[in-house]
Amino acid sequence: MVLNSKEGLTFSTFGILTNTGLVRHGGSTRVGGVSPNPFESLNLGYGRGDDIANVNENFKRLCEALDINPNDMVFCAQTHKANLRRVCASDRGKGYNKESDIRETDGLCTNDANVALVTFSADCVPILFLDPINRAIAAAHAGWRGTVARIASLMVKKMNEEFGSKPEDIVAGIGASIGQCCFEVDRPVAREFKEWNEYVSEAISPATQQVKYHVDLWGVNRAILISAGLMPEHIDSNALCTCCNPDLYFSHRRDKDARGSMASIILLLP
Ligand SMILES: [Zn+2]
Repeated sequence: MVLNSKEGLTFSTFGILTNTGLVRHGGSTRVGGVSPNPFESLNLGYGRGDDIANVNENFKRLCEALDINPNDMVFCAQTHKANLRRVCASDRGKGYNKESDIRETDGLCTNDANVALVTFSADCVPILFLDPINRAIAAAHAGWRGTVARIASLMVKKMNEEFGSKPEDIVAGIGASIGQCCFEVDRPVAREFKEWNEYVSEAISPATQQVKYHVDLWGVNRAILISAGLMPEHIDSNALCTCCNPDLYFSHRRDKDARGSMASIILLLP
């Protein structure tokens, strides 16, 4: 993962995606937008209380930095489930500048060029995919529920069904999200991760002196991608925690509802 700065806007990219020369992509930070606090400054979430004109301008700036036409964007409509949808060129603009029929969808994929798949996050794990052989891309939003529902491996399966993608060809980038340092959960949530015990640690909460659990969502998603057939060397991850980097990222855990949203975007070049 690389942090880039362009005209005052900071965004992350994955070398394994950039190096193919087949896509434009990036994960936003909170740096480089126009929104006031608590959305300061690159808020990409509509309906969070920020002025729509600010969010529009933020998208314009991010897309300019990524060299993507904003009108090519298709938004995910996330509900922490694991529904996936193939989109195409005629879906461009949905959620951004036109009405969308995409609902309850936490992952998008396409093999059409110039369709920019957009997922939103502020602690949840964004995952970008590319099959460089069959030329297909995908973007998924994996909160803890989506992670447990194995949305990452469901997307690999979907890419295989839709585009004939072989798991061993797919490269994936796991974006910034809440890290194991800050993702503290109670026992019922920790139990959901029983298959991935090695990525769950126990800690005494300083606030309550009670036993809590810390889950490594990057590790679990990486393990899920490998079990789906991806080569370990084809997976890159952003090792920055959204919760402990307040200058760089919005975090739901840290700021609750008084926060902006980040976006991860990928577009296949013609
Ligand atoms: Zn942290």
